[in-house]
Amino acid sequence: MSDPFQLAQRLQARRDQHLYRQRRVLESPQQAHIQCDGKTLRNFSSNDYLGLANHPAVVAASQKAAAEYGFGSGASHLVIGHSRVHHELEERLAEWVGRPRALLFSTGYMANLGVISALLERGDTVVQDKLNHASLLDGAQLSRGQLQRYHHNDLGSLQQRLQQAGGRVLVATDSVFSMDGDIAPLQDMAHLCQQQNAWLMVDDAHGLGVLGQGHGCLREYDLGLEQVPVYMGTLGKALGSYGAFVAGSEDLIEFLIQSARSYIYTTAMPPSVAAASLASLEVLAAERWRVERLQDLIGRFTRGALAMGLPMMPSTTAIQPLLVHDSEQALQLSATLLERGFLVGAIRPPTVPANAARLRITLSAAHSEQDIDDLLNALASN
Ligand code: PMP
Repeated sequence: MSDPFQLAQRLQARRDQHLYRQRRVLESPQQAHIQCDGKTLRNFSSNDYLGLANHPAVVAASQKAAAEYGFGSGASHLVIGHSRVHHELEERLAEWVGRPRALLFSTGYMANLGVISALLERGDTVVQDKLNHASLLDGAQLSRGQLQRYHHNDLGSLQQRLQQAGGRVLVATDSVFSMDGDIAPLQDMAHLCQQQNAWLMVDDAHGLGVLGQGHGCLREYDLGLEQVPVYMGTLGKALGSYGAFVAGSEDLIEFLIQSARSYIYTTAMPPSVAAASLASLEVLAAERWRVERLQDLIGRFTRGALAMGLPMMPSTTAIQPLLVHDSEQALQLSATLLERGFLVGAIRPPTVPANAARLRITLSAAHSEQDIDDLLNALASN
């Protein structure tokens, strides 16, 4: 077969650069200890930060909703796919993050695409951190506006970009950076944005459930609607479910319902998935110890890593990257850990910048102290 796209050569080039990505097949639920490729592994790769993905109340709620509503949602939200459980979840999420209204999206990727492409028209600008999640950057590509990028968490660089920006201006940032684990200076950014009449959009995919006693970055840093007019949270990480939402003013939500293409032109998430998210919010509220336990384990890990002199990137969140630089070495380290029973992903370009390959270690309230100590010892002996 002729191949004008030269796929075989392009795949080989990825292999040669140690950038080839491979999937693993899980044979157990997502939890601290998993069955994978026929082995039991301690899981330090998941974003299930609170151990809710396999919580009995979450699983039971999804089963009950499937029995009541069936499985498929049947259509997009606007065309009749929106059930009572979706509606309740939106109300509950708005309350949880302290905003007037929330709107469900089927994934965080789609939420970011939808918001940015709906808000920006030709002549407008979206200003983004260079390390923002791919979905924020892709949203800018899809929009008719201009993309400007500033240096990571650098307020001076942001200010420069804001001064050059034309039209209406949206500034978008991750709260907790997904591959670095550090946190954007949200209060200062909000202040700058207000001075320049720009709107700040925060993607709290890795902050919701972790920061602000589980309520996310808005609660942690006391950020009102004026400071952060556009908030995006995901349900597939600390909440252990699937999907995402945008929270903000009545007008923002109505505008997105009218114009966000990734909201309008896609099937609504199944009601049982929405029910699982609702249950998971309830568990989060009732079992506050999960958030505290995660913080304790983060403290245990970072203190241990510091004492052992491991080359960790500075992070106080559940994402604890160990900087390796070289992609091949990162792969080797991940393979050695795998042999010793630890699943830790090697993150390589283009997900991270060139020569910045790393192990992305993620911690969960479901880990034991022993899991943390054993991982530290395994890392130190490499
Ligand atoms: N934003 C950030 C910062 C993320 O890390 C992710 C998930 N990797 C997303 C958005 C996308 O969310 P989802 O997985 O729900 O599409």
